[in-house]
Amino acid sequence: MARLLPATPDAIAGAARIIRDGGLVAFPTETVYGLGANALDAGAVARIFAAKGRPASNPLIVHVASPEEIDALAYVGAQHAAPLQAVTDAFWPGPLTLVLPRKPVVPDTVTAGGPTVAVRMPRHSVALALIRAAGVPLAAPSANRSEQLSPTRAEHVAQGLGDAVDLILDGGPTDVGLESTVLDLTEWPPRLLRPGMVTAAEIESVLGVPISAHPAPNSGGSEPARSPGRMPRHYAPRTRLRVVTDVWAEATCAAAPVAVLAHTSPPADLPPHVQATILPAEPRAYAAHLYEALHQLDRLAVSLILVQAVPETDDWLAVRDRLGRAGA
Ligand code: AMP
Ligand code: MG
Repeated sequence: MARLLPATPDAIAGAARIIRDGGLVAFPTETVYGLGANALDAGAVARIFAAKGRPASNPLIVHVASPEEIDALAYVGAQHAAPLQAVTDAFWPGPLTLVLPRKPVVPDTVTAGGPTVAVRMPRHSVALALIRAAGVPLAAPSANRSEQLSPTRAEHVAQGLGDAVDLILDGGPTDVGLESTVLDLTEWPPRLLRPGMVTAAEIESVLGVPISAHPAPNSGGSEPARSPGRMPRHYAPRTRLRVVTDVWAEATCAAAPVAVLAHTSPPADLPPHVQATILPAEPRAYAAHLYEALHQLDRLAVSLILVQAVPETDDWLAVRDRLGRAGA
């Protein structure tokens, strides 16, 4: 198994040396655990793709420790400067990733060969300390095998990636629990490429323009992907998962043991073949516990996870997006 250490200052210093030597370190961010490498070292970045089994067409987010570091990675033209300043002032450090025109210093492996680079400043103190100690930006996707559930605890990383990672820094459970919002600033008005806990409405109120609130479909048609890596199936447990409205009725009728993930109370007469987990009925608290719950349900001896459909409102958009992909 990979080395797993509490994220003390000594462990972070050791992790920074691993990064500078071209190795892989898993570390906590406020969204999910990331699998980090020196973003400017194409060989190190290639190891991320190998460890995850990630298709080369799926680009990585580059993590920085201050907004000033964007300049070294991306072109900030006259048309980007004001909106970029506005969204970094409002949401950084935090769970918002910004897509900008890339500079040549960013390896093709990071951008999947495309003309843009995605950049984020996380707000987790361990992530910031690691980036600063390494002295380089960190390319880091979620620290799980491709398509599988994102890790919200260090143990999830150890179970999923094992020896493929040189060191895992344990910073406890993550608090946001869902991957960052991805916003494309290369067009105007900007486009939301992936919904997250920074919502379209919050971004609109800062930018003063309506942004497209729903990501462009990316189901592998003849159009080039607007957001590379937005696979229909992603973020998925191994167990078959279905999202259903009338979850208690469906679970009760099931012929075999079934796991239920719901956000309303179960009926009093729930049969014993139904194992229910109840999450909070509020989107932020639900998101914070979603992957943890799915990791647990995935370990039960059931062949089906039924997830109660969440409300169709905007504040649940990010959760609906992940549940849709988990069940695809
Ligand atoms: P992950 O870090 O595993 O959550 O995946 C990163 C996601 O960020 C990708 O799957 C894309 O959806 C998005 N992304 C990263 N780089 C770019 C980019 N240059 N352009 C558009 N989307 C990007
Ligand atoms: Mg991922």
